[in-house]
Amino acid sequence: MLFSSFKCLKEEIRINVAITIDLDRDCPMPVKGVKQAVSDILISNFDGETDAVFDGTVKGLTRTLELLNELEIEATLFIEARTLLYLREQQGELVKPLLKNEVSCHGMNHEDLTGERTGVRIDYNHQLKILKQATQTIKSVLNVKPKGFRAPYLKANSDTIKALTKLGYLYDSSIMVETTEPPFPYRIKEKQNNIIEVPVPVYPLNLGKMTLYTWALFEKQRNIDEYKKIIKVYQKNDKGGLLQISFHPWHLAYLIKEKRILREEEIEKNVNDLKNLLTQLKEDYNKILTVSEYLKEIEI
Ligand SMILES: [Zn+2]
Repeated sequence: MLFSSFKCLKEEIRINVAITIDLDRDCPMPVKGVKQAVSDILISNFDGETDAVFDGTVKGLTRTLELLNELEIEATLFIEARTLLYLREQQGELVKPLLKNEVSCHGMNHEDLTGERTGVRIDYNHQLKILKQATQTIKSVLNVKPKGFRAPYLKANSDTIKALTKLGYLYDSSIMVETTEPPFPYRIKEKQNNIIEVPVPVYPLNLGKMTLYTWALFEKQRNIDEYKKIIKVYQKNDKGGLLQISFHPWHLAYLIKEKRILREEEIEKNVNDLKNLLTQLKEDYNKILTVSEYLKEIEI
């Protein structure tokens, strides 16, 4: 009797959680006048050519895939096509395991599609060309058409949405929404656009905000307990939306504030923090699923 009431209580706080991973080059940053991203570590000596390194991505992705496997979690991967090409050429063994997860797209060359960060304007036709190339690249390497899209820097505009609609995407997940309950997806239906938006939640916190990206955790600005506390609030306020917990594989192995690749024991600490967080999400009986699995379950 006691056991069943306990179980019942646990089931009540079950919420939908998607682990969403932006798989891109080492710490991609916008640079004024440059369309594509430049890895943070290269910016001070940027020569206009060498714009990407993948040391952190490879180390972090290796650990990420191990962790997902161990915890039996299927994540949603927003893949930068350029990174995928690098992996195929240099780290072929990391490509096949990606397919255990949902494949989505994160640009060709981590372009700032809106030009807000780089000052380089990219019009509709150009966005369409970039997104088409990214889609085809992912499809040719993985043999899967990406279902969803997340814009680099979470910067998308109506031309992005129009291009994604044209390319037959199911959903976009580039728009942040400040909320204390897991947000519901909605359909963007205007002009020729028709696509589902899956908002990325941002938690209002004291005088600031906190995204559910583990950015601040790996930069040592927030600890694991702060993340857990916030997740509890989302659990309490849940009405059936989708909570996205997001991270970048390279961040397990790269510290932005010191612009360096981490030592093995530091990487281990980040992996353990991430494992701790994901394990907690599982133990709380949340329903962990991919974005498109969730979309199949609800009516929009
Ligand atoms: Zn990115």
